[in-house]
Amino acid sequence: MNPRSPDTLYGIIGHPLGHSLSPLLHNWGFELLNLDGVYLAWPLEPEKLPDFLTAARTLPIRGVSVTIPHKQAVLPLLDRVSGRARKVGAVNTLYWDGKDLCGENTDVPGFLAPLRGRTFAEALVLGAGGAARAVLAGLAELGVPRVRLTNRTAARARELAAEFGAEAIPWEERAAEGADLVINAGPLGMRGEHEGETPLTRERFSGRGLAYDLVYNPLRTRFLAEAEAAGWETRDGLSMFVEQGRAQFRLWTGRELPADGAREVLRAALGV
Ligand code: NAP
Repeated sequence: MNPRSPDTLYGIIGHPLGHSLSPLLHNWGFELLNLDGVYLAWPLEPEKLPDFLTAARTLPIRGVSVTIPHKQAVLPLLDRVSGRARKVGAVNTLYWDGKDLCGENTDVPGFLAPLRGRTFAEALVLGAGGAARAVLAGLAELGVPRVRLTNRTAARARELAAEFGAEAIPWEERAAEGADLVINAGPLGMRGEHEGETPLTRERFSGRGLAYDLVYNPLRTRFLAEAEAAGWETRDGLSMFVEQGRAQFRLWTGRELPADGAREVLRAALGV
């Protein structure tokens, strides 16, 4: 039993809602900072989203993390949506501002956190799903002048590239050549059916740059290992996860979660 007050609720909605580290992160934060609140996992089928919003407006639900497949569908159901979330076309956080239920996208600042203070001439993005949308919005904020995008399904790459002023290239021709930042925004390498796979093998890395994997379980993916073997610098996906969560916590409570402590808690849960 959670010893905290059950009348301040937070949670995550998604379908299917696989194992999520968000409850661990936020419940750790409430405990650490001695705040009321319990964060729960709420699996939610797509057709139940409007009912959930009614519940959120009725029950003492103070904040919600939103994941697949609700990130886009939730937009029209909110009182206000931030400019950044509109640009991404997706909301991953619900919070209250007075009586207004608002939507924000904290994946973008999460993605940007490990890139602060850096500049890049050309980025290659691998994947065209929900995470890639946040990546493209982040690269626009960072002012990366040239962005190439590739995806297994070419039509999705073309659509997303057109929306963000990027250039779509065929999946078969993907290579780091010309890029100084390469981002894996797809599931290859994730624990489970894609573990041990990579969207870019060593011989497709040339020159020097930064390889950034959004996957964080495992932390050390084959993509990062092959990039490192080719002499590239690397970033794993845990910082993004920590920073998107810290930004949510700030919106909900006005308080700061310590980044190092959060990373340690999550590393322990991941067994690394
Ligand atoms: P998604 O919307 O389901 O996107 C899936 C993308 O992966 C699509 O572009 C899809 O291509 C591609 N894909 C799926 N299976 C593939 C395969 N076998 N070979 C090649 N491409 C394949 O998922 P998402 O939300 O964007 O998440 C993508 C990844 O980012 C996941 O690993 C997730 O854990 C990670 N992520 C990390 C964070 C973080 O905080 N670090 C946040 C969000 C997401 P098609 O169009 O061809 O199907």
